[in-house]
Amino acid sequence: MTIKKMIPYGRQEIFKEDIDAVVSVLKSDFLTQGPCVPNFQGAVENKIGVKFSCATNSATSALHISCLALGVGPGDSVWTSPNSFVASSNAALYCGASVDFIDINSETLNIDVLALEEKLRVAKRLNNLPKVVIPVHFAGLPCDMIRISELSHEYGFKIIEDASHALGASYFDKLNSAESLIGSCDHSDICVLSFHPIKMITTGEGGMATTNDSKLFERLLLFRSHGVTSNKKLFDKRPKGELWNYQQIELGFNYRMTDIHAALGISQLKKLDYFLEQRRDVASQYFARLTELPITIQAQTSKSSHHLYTICINPDLTSKSQKQAFDHFLDMGIGANLHYIPIYLQPFYENLGFRRGYCPNAEFYFRNCLSLPIFTTLRRSEIDYVVNTLFEFFQSDV
Ligand SMILES: *Cc1c(COP(=O)(O)O)cnc(C)c1O
Repeated sequence: MTIKKMIPYGRQEIFKEDIDAVVSVLKSDFLTQGPCVPNFQGAVENKIGVKFSCATNSATSALHISCLALGVGPGDSVWTSPNSFVASSNAALYCGASVDFIDINSETLNIDVLALEEKLRVAKRLNNLPKVVIPVHFAGLPCDMIRISELSHEYGFKIIEDASHALGASYFDKLNSAESLIGSCDHSDICVLSFHPIKMITTGEGGMATTNDSKLFERLLLFRSHGVTSNKKLFDKRPKGELWNYQQIELGFNYRMTDIHAALGISQLKKLDYFLEQRRDVASQYFARLTELPITIQAQTSKSSHHLYTICINPDLTSKSQKQAFDHFLDMGIGANLHYIPIYLQPFYENLGFRRGYCPNAEFYFRNCLSLPIFTTLRRSEIDYVVNTLFEFFQSDV
């Protein structure tokens, strides 16, 4: 069996309606700062059930201004998961804060809430509690937000969810006896979404911060656009008679989303339920068919959006290595990938003083994991091919 084209681990799906939506903005009066950005924000707010949202040119920008809105600065500490993309922790460094990592739970692959609790207890004694914790919903599986939020009240930190993988995911909220959608900020201060083409829906590049707090929302808007406001209530006093229609009151950035991108977002959001269904279908195929292999798979403790599908080779059960699997997949035309190299093992972070062995679960997972293709247009025959390739790999002698 030969498949000429490489099957990627993820890709976007663009419809004719998406293209038409973008073209109509190109023919309109506003390429940026027009009606599409507020319309996209409104559509996301309705879909998720959250009061405010601030669309940005990337999730990385959204993470940065979320930290700034919460007052993160030099002398502060921000904690996050090592099993994430570097952007989750770079955001804290942009603000001049220091960053630290909580090891993951080997079953959920999200931050281990027991490890978090222990680390908080120690930090309290040493008087270096974090200002913000950034839980990452790895692969689209929601973290234990109820417990993390209880700890935030006990220890006085704020929560920014990095939900770059998790638009459409949800968990059962036992406090409200209802399903809580990721992005609703039911148990966090801010939630960040990504619209990179590999994520759940796309705007090309793009991101968003959601919140229910009007003060935080105002600050997000400020930092998104140069720190400049035209809201007179926020103005500093200036001599009478001078015409001031805007003021810069913070050092902000240009992190705005354009109307071209927002139009694509509005159109893509309409497909979210379909996208989720397609991804859940691929994942359920894998769950059903990858049993009896020497691998472990992320425990499904709540309702994932299935942004990624990763396996972890169990070295107690096979002599086959991750590298052999990776190379074999590439030979067979399957673009396997790694999610993630623990952030603190990156050379830049090692230069900050982090050392190997710091988060053993995240490192074990990194040395044995492999991401399988999962995306909305993955065909049944391609799933068969991936599954067969895996079975043949583990059955053959190397
Ligand atoms: C993709 C991703 C980001 C960054 O998103 P961009 O929109 O590309 O800036 C941040 N965190 C995680 C976990 C991601 O997967």
